[in-house]
Amino acid sequence: MIDIKKLTKRFGDSTVFSDLDLTITKGEIVVVIGPSGTGKSTLLRCINFLETANQGKITIDDVTVDTTQAKKNDILALRRKTGFVFQNYALFAHLTARQNVAEGLITVKGWKKDEAYQRAQQILDDIGLGDKGDAFPAALSGGQQQRVGIGRAMALEAELLLFDEPTSALDPEWVGEVLTLMKKLATRHQTMLVVTHEMQFAREVADRVIFMADGEFVEQGKPEQIFTTPNDLRLKKFLNQVG
Ligand code: ADP
Ligand code: MG
Repeated sequence: MIDIKKLTKRFGDSTVFSDLDLTITKGEIVVVIGPSGTGKSTLLRCINFLETANQGKITIDDVTVDTTQAKKNDILALRRKTGFVFQNYALFAHLTARQNVAEGLITVKGWKKDEAYQRAQQILDDIGLGDKGDAFPAALSGGQQQRVGIGRAMALEAELLLFDEPTSALDPEWVGEVLTLMKKLATRHQTMLVVTHEMQFAREVADRVIFMADGEFVEQGKPEQIFTTPNDLRLKKFLNQVG
């Protein structure tokens, strides 16, 4: 249902990755791990066209976009199929929590404001922030802000949620509540592609773990295999460093 073929991204003369293939089935939770600077963020950003890849085809459901000849409408159609959760939350500071969650419904989906706010409130209730609807981001803890960030992605009911190190900007005390919310989404069979350094989360929640290094998918498999019987030397070294 999500199929990425021969995805290639260069910045100037430097190739981040080339000819990456990735297929994700509906409801699958795929966790990408790997050293920094290896192209994990760029991969996620290319999938929803925050960056444009130099080559490759991206299919989500019934929408296929060839990145070399993507038209604005194709890109919009593909974006509607994804939600993105950023490391630094990227909430609108001048909007309340409710307005932040509703924003995509209004601008991307064209909902009327009052309907969007109603739905946003339901989502805030669902993620345990029902009483924070009128709060501005600055009045929320880091963990609460990131839950709003996830709520905003949830609002779009996207086929695929992309998470780029959603807990790595958080103080340790707030990490748990964000991971708990992500686990809740996983139990609802939300398809997720998650870049994270939270190995325990990967072990518990991932259907598949991909180790990415030097712009390649070096090794992938069930968490059990990746964490207990890794094959590649770079993966072994990486696990020693993080674990
Ligand atoms: P990761 O998320 O795995 O840490 P990134 O995807 O952020 O890695 O970066 C991969 C490589 O691409 C790095 O060498 C980084 O410096 C480079 N890069 C990322 N974004 C840009 C950009 N906008 N312009 C130039 N180089 C970039
Ligand atoms: Mg990154």
